[in-house]
Amino acid sequence: SPVIELDDVKKIYPLPSGDVTALRGISLRIDEGEFVAIMGPSGSGKSTLLNQIGCLDRPTSGDLFLAGKNTREMDDRELTSLRLTSIGYIFQKFNLIPLLSAYENVEYPYIMKHRKNDDTGRVRDLLAMVGIDENLSAHKPNELSGGQQQRIAIARALVNDPAILLCDEPTGNLDSQTSLQIMEILGDLHHRGRTIVMVTHNPETAEYADRTITIRDGMVA
Ligand code: ADP
Ligand code: ADP
Repeated sequence: SPVIELDDVKKIYPLPSGDVTALRGISLRIDEGEFVAIMGPSGSGKSTLLNQIGCLDRPTSGDLFLAGKNTREMDDRELTSLRLTSIGYIFQKFNLIPLLSAYENVEYPYIMKHRKNDDTGRVRDLLAMVGIDENLSAHKPNELSGGQQQRIAIARALVNDPAILLCDEPTGNLDSQTSLQIMEILGDLHHRGRTIVMVTHNPETAEYADRTITIRDGMVA
């Protein structure tokens, strides 16, 4: 069954210099448990599409359904809550909070959702799962390598057990060997049933996906 469905989604950015139409009417369905790569030239609308799926922004027109629910019918509070509970996001630049330790970065969205610290061991288990040991868990992001930071970002994205994991160029800042290690983790998550949507330029990275959707000029090619 589709966990993500877009029906003629358009996105226009109004700018003083004139409107930019980033998405020109995207329709697609992604089933539960699928691993989908989104490819296409720079500026074709890939990040805009991912941000729509991640509810960071709303469509200018068209409908986005997540787990069968039309996001148009949700107010901003409901959408924020859906984002916190159903979507994990990882980025090319990791986007960890510099002042927090690795452990605290992973725990942060847990606290946002549960309004208390993690007393279940979940943060520790996720860090172990991505290969960050207790010693590294106490370090701040700037004391860690890019690969270690991305591992922490993956653990953070999973802490509230989201249905969907969105990845925007997850290996874009990593060397090829580290990229492979990160892709092995994502591949593992996929085999455990997680739905993954990943924007990438890299064909080797896209090979981990079941299916590739190519975007050109704001449309599915
Ligand atoms: P890609 O991820 O494929 O490189 P983007 O989704 O980033 O493409 O961009 C698609 C188009 O929308 C580009 O023309 C880009 O300049 C424009 N765009 C993206 N984000 C914004 C924004 N926040 N404001 C205005 N224009 C934007
Ligand atoms: P549960 O899913 O019942 O909490 P797990 O300890 O198997 O039990 O999983 C904890 C979370 O971490 C889950 O979201 C699971 O998908 C993920 N996870 C655990 N181990 C791995 C692994 N080796 N590779 C990928 N994901 C994992």
